[in-house]
Amino acid sequence: MDEKKTVLIVEDEKSIVDILQYNLKKEYKILTANDGEAGLDMALKENPDILLLDLMLPKLDGFAVCRILREKGSRVPVIILTAREEEDDKVRGLELGADDYITKPFSVREVMARVKANIRRTAMEQDAAEESVLAAGGLRIQPDSYQVFKHDKAIDLTQREYDLLAFLAGHPGKVYSRSDLMEQVWNYGYVGEDVRTVDVTVRRLREKIEDDPASPALILTRRGVGYYYAAQ
Ligand code: CA
Repeated sequence: MDEKKTVLIVEDEKSIVDILQYNLKKEYKILTANDGEAGLDMALKENPDILLLDLMLPKLDGFAVCRILREKGSRVPVIILTAREEEDDKVRGLELGADDYITKPFSVREVMARVKANIRRTAMEQDAAEESVLAAGGLRIQPDSYQVFKHDKAIDLTQREYDLLAFLAGHPGKVYSRSDLMEQVWNYGYVGEDVRTVDVTVRRLREKIEDDPASPALILTRRGVGYYYAAQ
């Protein structure tokens, strides 16, 4: 029997913790922390499979927790919990390495779907680890170790950045719409107005892999359609 995956909930509002815990505990092992310091500590020590991270937290806010986790090399999927209408918070969270966000007040069904999608994506990547090394546009992508090298120098990518790059580079020249990418890389279909997530991730990725991010040569934009990876 599969061991249950672990979800770490970092949230200071007890009613939210309670409702998340109640709904998730049937399928997952649950850890909770009610301030940022305790959450960071637990994320590093307990190695959870996914983090649900509130932004406004005592001691250390969610942005700092996310940033420090990534600085320390943690690749745990992070879903940030953000209040409605705080678009800047979403973008900032994604820029700091969060994988996804959920807007409060949320539906339990949405949370369950997002948690499942993010855990499934991570598990699939681990299963699909291949030994081959892809070479495309001066980049070497090593699926077995999730590493990317440019001119033999390792590039530090978040898991989502890696996923997006590996997906696009695996289909050079093929143009994908933002919705396609949300479905293929983020693993969920309905995105509403949230396709901006794709743009933010593409921008971050370009800053890391392109010689000149302002005039990209690897991840290209087909105006009005979407993105594609340069053919050889
Ligand atoms: Ca809070």
